[in-house]
Amino acid sequence: MVATWTPDQPIVQCVEVRKSFGALEVLKGISLSVRKGEVICIIGPSGSGKSTLIRCINALQPISSGSIQIEGIEVTDPRLDKLALRRKVGMVFQQYNLFPHKTALQNVMMAPIHVLGQKRAEVEARARALLAKVRLAGKEDSYPGELSGGQQQRVAIARSLAMRPDIMLFDEVTAALDPETVKEVLVTIRELAEDGMTCLLVTHEMNFAREVADHVYFTDRGVIVEHGPPETLFTAAKDERTQRFLSQVL
Ligand code: ADP
Ligand code: MG
Repeated sequence: MVATWTPDQPIVQCVEVRKSFGALEVLKGISLSVRKGEVICIIGPSGSGKSTLIRCINALQPISSGSIQIEGIEVTDPRLDKLALRRKVGMVFQQYNLFPHKTALQNVMMAPIHVLGQKRAEVEARARALLAKVRLAGKEDSYPGELSGGQQQRVAIARSLAMRPDIMLFDEVTAALDPETVKEVLVTIRELAEDGMTCLLVTHEMNFAREVADHVYFTDRGVIVEHGPPETLFTAAKDERTQRFLSQVL
């Protein structure tokens, strides 16, 4: 398939996405899009299918029906070049999964060297710059075990950025962190967004969503109940399910 995508079209376009695990339908017709430079937040109760959707977008799981396109490329196409997709789409999870026996710098350098075959000297310069960008200058030679959860998560973000993705997916990246380190990770993501990085986040951080998101989707039990700009969704939600959820978390 020849992609005819142009940057004025959505980077991510999900249309009527359905996904079942056996008899359990987890995504029941999800449609959403993310344009270049946008910050989109997905909120909703546990078990809504948020992580499943993120995993489907990154082709980590197949969908049952519907369509997901990344820059015009159908991720469900069996001929999909998954490596090419992974280069476009950076992903950070709740578990940062750094290599424990590698330093912060080595963790950030690995993929560009081993996956992309780039030159070590260039990769190292860029990895140092990325660690500085996520406010970890001085921690290059620290091992993950010597860093706080928030610092490790920022190494994970730098590691993703090292692949020069066009979009970053974040799935509850602060959910496992101590409260005092949550903020520093959110600051990093906010700075990325301000630099123009396109971001799709699943988050429980409502203040973050409110302040940083361009658009917020509220999901419940596999459907998008409602969506809109944060100032509308957080103050004038129309659906009773959204109102109830927000009253519990705000
Ligand atoms: P959320 O991220 O919104 O909490 P998930 O996408 O993790 O929701 O899960 C949605 C539903 O799908 C849950 O009922 C979960 O148990 C189920 N589920 C997720 N992954 C699998 C899987 N690999 N196999 C079977 N069921 C799954
Ligand atoms: Mg989840």
